[in-house]
Amino acid sequence: MRTSLVAGNWKMNGSFAANASLLQSLLKGLAKLDSSRQAVCVPYPYLEQVRGMLNGSRIAWGAQNVSEFEAGAYTGEVAAPMLREFGCSYVTVGHSERRMLFAEGDVQVAAKYAAALGAGITPILCVGETLEERERGVTEQVVRRQLGAVMDKVGAAGIARGVVAYEPVWAIGTGRTASAETAQQVHAFLRGCVAADDPAVAAELAILYGGSVKAQNAAELFAMADIDGGLIGGASLKADEFIAICQFADELADR
Ligand code: PEP
Repeated sequence: MRTSLVAGNWKMNGSFAANASLLQSLLKGLAKLDSSRQAVCVPYPYLEQVRGMLNGSRIAWGAQNVSEFEAGAYTGEVAAPMLREFGCSYVTVGHSERRMLFAEGDVQVAAKYAAALGAGITPILCVGETLEERERGVTEQVVRRQLGAVMDKVGAAGIARGVVAYEPVWAIGTGRTASAETAQQVHAFLRGCVAADDPAVAAELAILYGGSVKAQNAAELFAMADIDGGLIGGASLKADEFIAICQFADELADR
């Protein structure tokens, strides 16, 4: 059975004071959930604070990027074993903001995914099409290519140790969510791509939806057969919203 996951992506937001208040609320609000997983992916400088506050709780934490290299002369980069030392369970790789603003390509994203696995961290692989690609009717080709680059690198066994997040670029931070049916179609397609290689891995793979998820639309999205939770940006900075989203995932987890 797949275990749902709701992961917050704080992006480049936070301060010691704001994080402390948010995390206190999450610790209280998520304590009773027991059927799903929750995590927050935070900026590097806050990993120690997050570890200090969440250690021993049921909320996991992670980072938003990782170097594909293990160590050495890579100024400004952060390696997967370092993230592990900070207790990270997760790291997002291939987020569209990194693909677009920092020119990360499929091969580099696959190397980052492999580096995370090598350090015992669960990578959350983000895939998704731009608006232009959707309008051109190439959504499936795009997400198959993005997922395929990682499968080529780590095989189905490596995919089994990660999580996939379908995040249509046109829905990220825009307030424009994919309809539950539209998202479900792509999720089913992605699961099918993995199933072509290994049906057992596909059946167990958690595929999250991301893109303007809020308390208001989460239940409808999470009720879909192939949507196993969410990657939440803006709404993960608001305690009440994030808690409500996690509650929906938890209620629907025992389907
Ligand atoms: C994200 O950053 O991964 C994301 C989905 O952002 P938002 O929820 O704000 O659209």
